[in-house]
Amino acid sequence: MSQYQFGVIGLAVMGRGLALNLAEHGFSVAGYNLEPEMTQAFVAEGLRQGYSVAGAPSCQELCQMLERPRKILIMVKAGAPVDSVLDSLLPWLESGDVVIDGGNTHYPHTHARQDRCGAKGVHFLGMGVSGGEDGARHGPALMPGGSREAYRLVEPFLTAIAAHVDGQPCCAYNGPAGAGHFVKMVHNGIEYGDMQLICEAYYLMKRLLGLSAGEIAQYFQEWNKGELSSYLVEITAHILTVEDPGTGAPLVDKILGEAGSKGTGMWTVQEALSQGVPLPTIAQAVFARDLSCSSGVRARMSQQSSPAAAPAIADRAAFAEQIRRALYASKLCSYAQGFDLLSRAGKAYGWNLDLGGIALLFRGGCIIRASFLNQLARVYRAQPELENLLLDASFAQVLEDYQQDWRQVVASAVRNSVAVPAFAASLSYYDGLRDPEGPLNLLQAQRDCFGAHTFRRTDREGVFHHPWNG
Ligand code: NDP
Repeated sequence: MSQYQFGVIGLAVMGRGLALNLAEHGFSVAGYNLEPEMTQAFVAEGLRQGYSVAGAPSCQELCQMLERPRKILIMVKAGAPVDSVLDSLLPWLESGDVVIDGGNTHYPHTHARQDRCGAKGVHFLGMGVSGGEDGARHGPALMPGGSREAYRLVEPFLTAIAAHVDGQPCCAYNGPAGAGHFVKMVHNGIEYGDMQLICEAYYLMKRLLGLSAGEIAQYFQEWNKGELSSYLVEITAHILTVEDPGTGAPLVDKILGEAGSKGTGMWTVQEALSQGVPLPTIAQAVFARDLSCSSGVRARMSQQSSPAAAPAIADRAAFAEQIRRALYASKLCSYAQGFDLLSRAGKAYGWNLDLGGIALLFRGGCIIRASFLNQLARVYRAQPELENLLLDASFAQVLEDYQQDWRQVVASAVRNSVAVPAFAASLSYYDGLRDPEGPLNLLQAQRDCFGAHTFRRTDREGVFHHPWNG
């Protein structure tokens, strides 16, 4: 039986794309999917392109078809399906083989699966994959984690198929254990923040400026040429120009505004809560999706009182520019939060994540790819121990320059009943970090008053308790 260099299990959108990507780069690939039709479709497509591919009818036969040490990528739904694949696979694997889970697995599960495979001498890598269908086929961002030895065995395959920016692959070893899936989880949290902020900018232009989808598209097209240049702004500009085939109206105007999620944003926020890292913009992005799904309450409350009428804004272009600045400033705060989480959780888990390397890795293939990540990478390369992105002089200057416009935009939204939870959360994060005083002296007094939780003083060292109630 011929020996294939790489095996892929799970041949839906992502698995098939990655398998064909590997084959296109000259590697021979064997695939297996639970539904044999998907395996056949993959083989037919690969052979049509002239690639060296084959299908296996079972995990056992897949293992027999692979070169030693075997290299196998699992691309199935996160959760029980991954364990089910391991159940079928492990009996046929040998010490030194490498299994990669490329799904959106919650990183603690990766730790457990590493232990399970390790007991048999089998390496297990947890790898975040971003880029959707097109990325998988033509160049994703890859975020592997696990043992370095295992990574070295698969590195040539992964770096070959990853997206490349300035000749560098968007694939780098992130650290041991679940570090790769952790980085992907935070990537997705940042993605939630970016998407929500863009949606708020769009809605402000719609509600306060009364612009049509097509007119808003033109602004996003312009913005995509500057510091906001990114995949998400680019697709937003395009989406806003697409017509509904049935009515000819902008398709976006026909889409129900109730957003689902698959949990990675929620995991990011849960992680931030348990690490004590403030992540308000990303948390608001998750909550905004939850709120959007309260359709019954929203319908009833919208009948109770009508929102304020749109104000007359004479200079629309000037206000749109203020929105652009508010969007960029809010985005900087969101990235400051996401990278703070990467830094602090990375330290807590002993991974010491390379923040500059992660910023470089995010530049291509993935959904949050953006030109400003070059600047972010330069900042972390120059100051790897920077405690918060907003402490960097260049980013601090941008926020200083933009803050008046940012406040104007948030204030206009508040005055006119337009919810901008992510813009406002970013602004409060910025203001909260810059205020050396804040109101929580009072909170400490309250805690001490009702629970004798003690407090520290501004004028003396030590821990104090006051008999507040006499
Ligand atoms: P799906 O998760 O929708 O489907 C997975 C495929 O795996 C199906 O074809 C399924 O077969 C097959 N499968 C399930 N269990 C087994 C098994 N025990 N043995 C063999 N095959 C099995 O596919 P996607 O490609 O969308 O996603 C794969 C992973 O990648 C998921 O974890 C997802 O979160 C992640 N991901 C997805 C992205 C996307 O844009 N879609 C982006 C980044 C990551 P069957 O149809 O018979 O059930």
